[in-house]
Amino acid sequence: MTTLFPTYNRFPFELISGEGVTVFDQEGNSYLDLTSGIGVCNLGYNVKQLNEAVTAQLGQIWHTSNLYESHLQEEVAEKLTQGTEKVVFFCNSGTEANEAALKLARKATGKTKILSFAHSFHGRSVGSLSLTGNEKIKEGFGDLLSDVTFVAYNDFHSLQAVTSEYAAVIVEVIQGEGGMTAGEADWLEALDAECKEKGVLLIIDEVQTGIGRTGKLFAYQHYALDPDIVTSAKGLANGIPVGAMIGKKELAAAFSAGTHGTTFGGNPLAMAAANQVLTIIDDEFLEAVTQKADLFWYYLEKELSDIEFVEGISGKGLMIGIHLAKELPVADVIQALHQEGILTLSAHGNTLRLLPPLVIKGAELIEASQKIKQVLQTSMVHQ
Ligand SMILES: *Cc1c(COP(=O)(O)O)cnc(C)c1O
Repeated sequence: MTTLFPTYNRFPFELISGEGVTVFDQEGNSYLDLTSGIGVCNLGYNVKQLNEAVTAQLGQIWHTSNLYESHLQEEVAEKLTQGTEKVVFFCNSGTEANEAALKLARKATGKTKILSFAHSFHGRSVGSLSLTGNEKIKEGFGDLLSDVTFVAYNDFHSLQAVTSEYAAVIVEVIQGEGGMTAGEADWLEALDAECKEKGVLLIIDEVQTGIGRTGKLFAYQHYALDPDIVTSAKGLANGIPVGAMIGKKELAAAFSAGTHGTTFGGNPLAMAAANQVLTIIDDEFLEAVTQKADLFWYYLEKELSDIEFVEGISGKGLMIGIHLAKELPVADVIQALHQEGILTLSAHGNTLRLLPPLVIKGAELIEASQKIKQVLQTSMVHQ
């Protein structure tokens, strides 16, 4: 019996504690976590520095509303903007960050049309769902925003769709839910150029790709991209709900007092956590992520290259999709990996999705790649 809406098919165990990159269920079974709670606990579990920062804030004040000054919001905003001419609006989730971006883009440009991409994911509210390129999850909810157009991702023909009629284009640098597809550098940069030429704002959704996941604070920083708005959430406070919309300073006037708001956004507990997260994720940390990612990719490619049902590996950094042939359903692989003490995720297109905590050690990644190989081999035998 459950008293919950059945919006999730839950696995029949509960994770009740965690330490580093290992989580434990109610029966004491341990699992190597390759999910980070869907890209959230990037620094792992029971992190001393984070616990201390949040506990200290807990003993001071939990909540103040946004009617008063907040030195913590200012500090986190400074870290997020990295000395650039940008400003930040804090909220509580990725959905809310994209919702804010949508409203800001419309208000700032006076236009309403948005261009988005097939297989994109931007959230579940009516606004952010309208931007999402997945018909299946929109079914049954009636009319969503009508002035959103979808075109193919990584396709140069799509650039022709960018016209001055649009307020904004919204794009993920790597499509996460949509199948772990990395945007190609040339294409992303051409998209940026097209937006600039046509006077269309570029919104980059970094909710999953950001906060160090690919070896940069934001994935767009690998390329010559200059987004007008960037949205962040998931890993930003390592598990305390938070979202952020980062925008160019010239957009600030469109979000004047009273135009947008939130009760909880930028809550002191979330800000205390985010402030520590962004202190820990420095250049040295990011360099280590890049090195570990290179190692993991090397081993995954080595171990999985001769497995018949593996059709390819995609993504970037520690955001990785292993594409399985349809004969081998990803749900079966995820469950078989549970038996081996490994947590993984799925993404669109029968993709095994890996989002390990960024603090995972090289040796753990090598072990994980070998166990994934083992499980894929045995699952094949059972087909
Ligand atoms: C998870 C995700 C969202 C939605 O974030 P929530 O915090 O679940 O609202 C939006 N965009 C992308 C790219 C995501 O991965």
